[in-house]
Amino acid sequence: MARPKNVKHIFVTGGVISSIGKGILSASLGMLLKSRGLKVTIQKYDPYINVDPGTMSPYQHGEVYVTDDGAEADLDLGHYERFLDDATSQTSNLTMGRVYKSVIDKERNGDYLGATVQVVPHVIDEIKDRMAEQAKNSNLDVLITEIGGTIGDIESLPFLEAMRQMKLDMGDGNLLNIHLTFVPYIKAASELKTKPTQHSVKMLLGVGIQPDILVCRSEKQLSREIKNKVGHFCNLNEYDVIGLSDCATIYEVPLMLLQEQLDLRVLKKLGLKGFQEPDLEYWRNFCNKVKFPTGGEVTVGICGKYTEYPDAYKSILESFIHAGASNNVKVNVKLLRAEDAEEPNFDFAKALDGVHGLLVAPGFGDRGTEGKVKYIQYVREKNIPFFGICLGMQCASIEFARNVCGMPEANSTEFNKRVRFAIIDLMEHQKKVKEKGGSMRLGSYPCIITEGSKAHASYQKFLVNERHRHRYEFNNEYRKIFEESGMVFSGTSPNGELIEIIELKNHRWFVAVQFHPELKSRVQKVHPLFHGFVEAAKEYRQGSHQTDMSVEMPSFTPL
Ligand code: GLN
Repeated sequence: MARPKNVKHIFVTGGVISSIGKGILSASLGMLLKSRGLKVTIQKYDPYINVDPGTMSPYQHGEVYVTDDGAEADLDLGHYERFLDDATSQTSNLTMGRVYKSVIDKERNGDYLGATVQVVPHVIDEIKDRMAEQAKNSNLDVLITEIGGTIGDIESLPFLEAMRQMKLDMGDGNLLNIHLTFVPYIKAASELKTKPTQHSVKMLLGVGIQPDILVCRSEKQLSREIKNKVGHFCNLNEYDVIGLSDCATIYEVPLMLLQEQLDLRVLKKLGLKGFQEPDLEYWRNFCNKVKFPTGGEVTVGICGKYTEYPDAYKSILESFIHAGASNNVKVNVKLLRAEDAEEPNFDFAKALDGVHGLLVAPGFGDRGTEGKVKYIQYVREKNIPFFGICLGMQCASIEFARNVCGMPEANSTEFNKRVRFAIIDLMEHQKKVKEKGGSMRLGSYPCIITEGSKAHASYQKFLVNERHRHRYEFNNEYRKIFEESGMVFSGTSPNGELIEIIELKNHRWFVAVQFHPELKSRVQKVHPLFHGFVEAAKEYRQGSHQTDMSVEMPSFTPL
């Protein structure tokens, strides 16, 4: 095995339509190369002007992923982590906004004195400098860069120009462009159509880039003839046209690419020799468990306000796939619109019919929070497994204060500034914060777990690190009354000041966390709390009759 002297670059671009899976392709290729013994890192370049996606609505951008070191980043970083089992970081997601900001800051600083600052060369050089900086990463063999957007977009042109120049600077065999396109299947003609792919490659050629490998996403398998035809019109050998037809699960994509020998083509073109055969036994088993679980199905409800747009809950949905495999069940997800539960005669039994556990999702702002509180009251009283994440934990605390601790006006100051019982309040260090971008409590923090708790039963550890993204926290003034009323604070910051996990003693499984466990679940390491929640849902499905918890709550003294 000959490690390359210099870092080899792979750029993944997308053509024809958006959302065809550049992130999954990059993650899958990264995983295959890693399992062959190469040291691989993946990064995402996004063409928009926001410095990061932290200030964007989930409707615009889907979930905001958070890294250990506190970057608010693109959700594709979640795929990279889930597939490679390596943590990404602040430098893993570069936006055009960040590039421009840095160029403009340098201009104000006088760094370009005398020059007219322009896209070419200054913006392009800035991109190339960032790339070189990332490639310095110790021991790195291959750096995969996924370029967001679709070829033909105006805003991604500087990234493409940087790639073109780099290829020229580095010489053959050091930089590859893998272009992912879509080959539509026209039912009426029973035919796969290659013309959009040809046009997309022409557009790339128009900016001076000949793709080295084409990956063609399609509903049906690409025949040898089609590959040949695509290759013929796009200046490629048919072996460099890789077919990627729809898979039962995204986790099968690496296996399909292996079969199509994408990794071998890449190694050959990059002059990398002697690398081991990938050992994908674990991965294959995982896919089999996802596709053919023998333990039947469970259904979990996800209550949130972005239910029409599941990308907003990407990591949660993936975590359920992982936890389904580890519990040997298929997890069906029912998305429940929180606001519906605010209607006066809302039928909770009907909405939760066939649901074996409820997850209340993270979120910002008050829309839907009253509905979330009502859903939580219902599952608490009916002893249905409950898992709250971030805002979900805050809503669970509000519900408990209102309906168990006798504080009907309880709320979070995020939703009502002058609330009488501010169960959830702005964190002390957030009170002076004015800027919205990157200013929350972000990234990984340690959490101490209480022995004997459900959290401990899941984690089997006393110290865990979990990622955060919030401004508000549980108000410690209410700890005592909560504890007296049956709430257990099973996870806190090491100094004991911040509540990180709450749970109920007299409940089948009622656990809510201030952090985001979904960001750390991986194929190779299913998150213990997702595993525990699905296990509880499975047990609940299997049987015991619902018990009404509203009568079993301990007595309490209202404030
Ligand atoms: N809006 C809440 C806060 O800022 C919860 C955030 C979240 O769910 N990520 O604290």
